Amino acid sequence: MIKDNLNQIKASLPNDVELIVVSKFRPLEQLMEVYETGHRQFAENRVQELTTKYESMPKDVLWHMIGHLQSNKVKYIAPFIHLIHSVDSFELATEINKQALKNNRIIPVLLQFHIAQEETKSGFSTDGFQTIIPDLIKLEGIEIQGVMGMASLTDNQEQVFQEFTHLKSIFNSLKNSYFQNHPNFKIISMGMSGDYLIAVKAGSTMVRVGSLVFE
Ligand SMILES: *Cc1c(COP(=O)(O)O)cnc(C)c1O
Repeated sequence: MIKDNLNQIKASLPNDVELIVVSKFRPLEQLMEVYETGHRQFAENRVQELTTKYESMPKDVLWHMIGHLQSNKVKYIAPFIHLIHSVDSFELATEINKQALKNNRIIPVLLQFHIAQEETKSGFSTDGFQTIIPDLIKLEGIEIQGVMGMASLTDNQEQVFQEFTHLKSIFNSLKNSYFQNHPNFKIISMGMSGDYLIAVKAGSTMVRVGSLVFE
C-alpha cells in the first residue's frame, strides 16, 4: 500500500521536483516500509520525535526538520540534520549557526515565509525581512538554500495557487538581490498532500507529503 502510494506520487511529479516523506506520528515499521523502496528523505516536525527516529533508522536517511524550532532545541539535531526548512527568525538562525560551528559543519537551511491568510502559520512576514538578509548571509555555519511556505487550508484552489506564486516571487527576488552567486540557493519547499500539484504548477522544487503516503 505504502509502496503503491509512493509510486503514484512520484509518477505525478516532474523529475526535478524532490519528494520529502513527512513521517511525523508514523511508527518506525511504516518508515521502514518507505525506506525499503529506496526512498531516503524523511521529514519530522518535532525535535524529540526526530532524534528518536534518527537513532532507530538506518544512518543513510536524510532528515528534514519542517516544524517550528525552538532555539534551545537546535543542539539536539545540529549533528545530523540534513535541511532545516523552518528558519523564521534571526535569533534562530544565529543559534543554528552556533551549533553548526560547534559540530564542525555547515547546516543547510530554508527561510520560512508566512504566505497564508491564516494568522497561525509561522514564518517571516513578507515585508520587512529584506533588511536582515545581509546579516543572515554573513553567518558562516549556515547555508541558505531557499524558501519554504504553507498555503492556507482552503478549498479555494485559485487562492492556494496565488499564495504559492507569491512564495515563488519572494524566492526570485531574493535570488536576484542576494544569491546570484550562490548556486545552492535553488529550493522552493511548498506543497503538502492536499495541494502539492498546485504547488508544482506554481514552481515548487520540493514537496513535503505525509498523509497521501501513509493513508
Ligand atoms: C505535516 C506537515 C506536512 C505534510 O502534511 P500532509 O498533509 O500529511 O501531507 C508538510 N509540511 C509541514 C510543515 C507539516 O507540518
